[in-house]
Amino acid sequence: MKKNDTFILKIEDMGIGGEGIGKYEGMTFFVKDAVIGDEILAGVTKLKKGYGYARLVEIVKPSPKRVEAPCKIARQCGGCQIQNLCYEEQLVLKQKKVENNLRRIGSFSQEQVEKVMEPVVGMEDPFRYRNKAQFPCGYDKDGNIVFGFYAARSHQVIPIDDCLLGVSENAKILAVIKEYMEACHIKPYDETTGQGLLRHVLIRKGFHSGQVMVCLIINGDKLPQADRLVESLSEVPGMHSISYNVNKEKTNRILGDKVQLLWGDLCIRDTIHRVREEESGGFTRTDESVTFAISPKSFYQVNPVQTEKLYSLALEYAGLTGKEIVWDLYCGIGTISLFLAQAAKHVYGVEIVPEAVADARENAKNNQIENATFYVGKAEEVLPAWVEEHADDGDAGLHPDVIVVDPPRKGCDEKCLETMVAMAPERIVYVSCDSATLARDLKYLQEKGYEVLRVRPVDQFCHSMHVETVVLLSKGMVDSRKVKVDSSLEDMDLSELKGKATYEQIKAYVLEQTGLKVSSLYIAQIKKKCGLDVGENFNLPKSENAKQLQCTPEKEEAIMQAFRHFGII
Ligand code: SAH
Repeated sequence: MKKNDTFILKIEDMGIGGEGIGKYEGMTFFVKDAVIGDEILAGVTKLKKGYGYARLVEIVKPSPKRVEAPCKIARQCGGCQIQNLCYEEQLVLKQKKVENNLRRIGSFSQEQVEKVMEPVVGMEDPFRYRNKAQFPCGYDKDGNIVFGFYAARSHQVIPIDDCLLGVSENAKILAVIKEYMEACHIKPYDETTGQGLLRHVLIRKGFHSGQVMVCLIINGDKLPQADRLVESLSEVPGMHSISYNVNKEKTNRILGDKVQLLWGDLCIRDTIHRVREEESGGFTRTDESVTFAISPKSFYQVNPVQTEKLYSLALEYAGLTGKEIVWDLYCGIGTISLFLAQAAKHVYGVEIVPEAVADARENAKNNQIENATFYVGKAEEVLPAWVEEHADDGDAGLHPDVIVVDPPRKGCDEKCLETMVAMAPERIVYVSCDSATLARDLKYLQEKGYEVLRVRPVDQFCHSMHVETVVLLSKGMVDSRKVKVDSSLEDMDLSELKGKATYEQIKAYVLEQTGLKVSSLYIAQIKKKCGLDVGENFNLPKSENAKQLQCTPEKEEAIMQAFRHFGII
């Protein structure tokens, strides 16, 4: 076989980049734009030992899972990889991607994967979900100014009139900016020569507030005739913030350091509600919410509908009752932290971007949240330093109840993981945007004694191959140095009791009614006494010499009362 040879290929799987995978004469072929179930005419583009790449010449028999991509340029644009696969199958693919990574990189057994995996959370309407877009600016082949996206693996700008993942305001805003550029002779930035002014346009919209932000990223210190631009841009409905950002470096990084406000406020606002999952699988909004101020430079999840689900799951996994000390590492503008703070005693957030931390503090204030403290710095530096500094303070912060992490794609630094393990929180909630690094970090945490209990993918990036995942780990056997008998026992049973009350809810109820603190062990003992089923590991001392505490009659009565309240007995 040689380059340009064609052959019929049956696509049997899809790879991590969304490419179709099939086997021909003992060789594995990767084919962009082919979907699982397709039978295609493939043309060899590159041959390697045992595998090769091919191009989709023609679809011989389309897969039943294939749909026509609603976007005309889905094939050229690097933004979407799997728009031509029906949405249900996209979800299946993402679930499989996470599972594969857990097995291959995380060394999970098939049995464990089956035990911990929960069904991926999809979207009802997987279009127009993005609240943020960054459009590069360039010329088309006729020399016209165009905005668009980069083609896959290149920096060639593919012109786009209207991206179907973004808000409908984008098209209008880009048209206004193009008009301004033409009228004022402003040139797009050219990466190869370093000449030209406008590099990117960043547009954000608060889905709840309706507020729109535009930030022009320029290769210069000033935006000429800015008044002219402001005049027409400020007419766009919802416009709330117009600014420019200076980036004169030859870099792939989009934003530079300095932001200059031209009109309106620097930040837009948006509100995220806590949602609850219904039996039917749908999610409904609750009244619990946090409102955020978002500046051009801060990180904010791009899919607000799915973010509500993601954060609500993270909160559920954290199992808070109001008494916990919680750390939120990689906290950004405090989005997850402030949700946690509403349900915990105190939350400490750590974030590397100083502006984001300033936003986080402001957000706490604006939401009347006083039990959150934010630190600027790298998680892998702030956390060990904090532990060292507070080594003599007793148990309070050194052994937090929960640590939440939400790192960027590269995952957690090992020093950070090591410190987390040393702090021995009861639970770790890991929110991840890259299941490969997630699996690597879970492997580390499992080797140190943490047990993965729940894994749930959330589709934040429909039509791309990216998937967000939320994971719950329990301390299990980890020695918290100052070992208490109570915490050396399995402290969590996540199975819900009849009447939908969890151990955490029973504890909270007992405390509220009687002021007594009861452990999961005691609840399990009373459950057993009532002839109710208790989890397998429950009740078993973790080591030979661990004492088995016995529930006092007073606490027994309080727990029984809670059981009656929740309709368990
Ligand atoms: N939890 C937030 C942000 C998650 S994105 C949210 O959901 O909105 C990851 C964040 O980690 C970014 O804000 C990024 O600036 C920050 N970050 C990256 N490396 C870091 C590090 N080493 N230590 C702390 N924060 C870091």
